[in-house]
Amino acid sequence: METCVTDCIRAGQEEKALRQLKGVLTQVIRNLSEGGENKMSDCCSVQEAACETPLVMNCPVSGTRSKQVAALTVKSLVRHLPFGMPSTQYYFCDAPGCDVVYFPLYPEAPTFRREDLLVRIGAKETRDSIPVCYCFGITRNQIQEEIRKTGESTAAERVKAEVKAGRCACEVKNPAGKCCLGDIARTVKLAQESASANLLPASFGGGDKA
Ligand SMILES: [Zn+2]
Repeated sequence: METCVTDCIRAGQEEKALRQLKGVLTQVIRNLSEGGENKMSDCCSVQEAACETPLVMNCPVSGTRSKQVAALTVKSLVRHLPFGMPSTQYYFCDAPGCDVVYFPLYPEAPTFRREDLLVRIGAKETRDSIPVCYCFGITRNQIQEEIRKTGESTAAERVKAEVKAGRCACEVKNPAGKCCLGDIARTVKLAQESASANLLPASFGGGDKA
């Protein structure tokens, strides 16, 4: 409950924080007058549900607009969470040059960087096999190779079929906590653009093994 109120203050939502405190106090007074011993846990869950955190925050290091990420994603992909960390909303920074992966709304909570995660962050990698789809292990190199050979990529179709069959687990495998289809579409588009640009010079086949 306290973290939730603090989150609101931190997010510049003082009025909301006050409303929450008022709600908590009302609940406590009601419980006391009803002779209820301690219903704090009930009232806390109600209050937490009422707290609205900003959907987007700027990364404290790179200033990149970063979207909310589910607690389940953070818990699944951070190698070791520190003991007793405050619960707060986390945000995912996907800026290529920035080492921060997850940063908290509540500043006393820890920030998690690339080395704290169990997986490599595709958006932040520039070399070797750059992951695009985390559920089925599709890399940027595979998509580029496919496009070099056939001119197109079947990655999106293949992933869509798996999603339809209920076999994806983006929330616990993809550090962005969301479906990779948007990233696949972007990767395919870029690979096709660079392939067609590479066709113009005489030396086709040298290829970029990026
Ligand atoms: Zn960042």
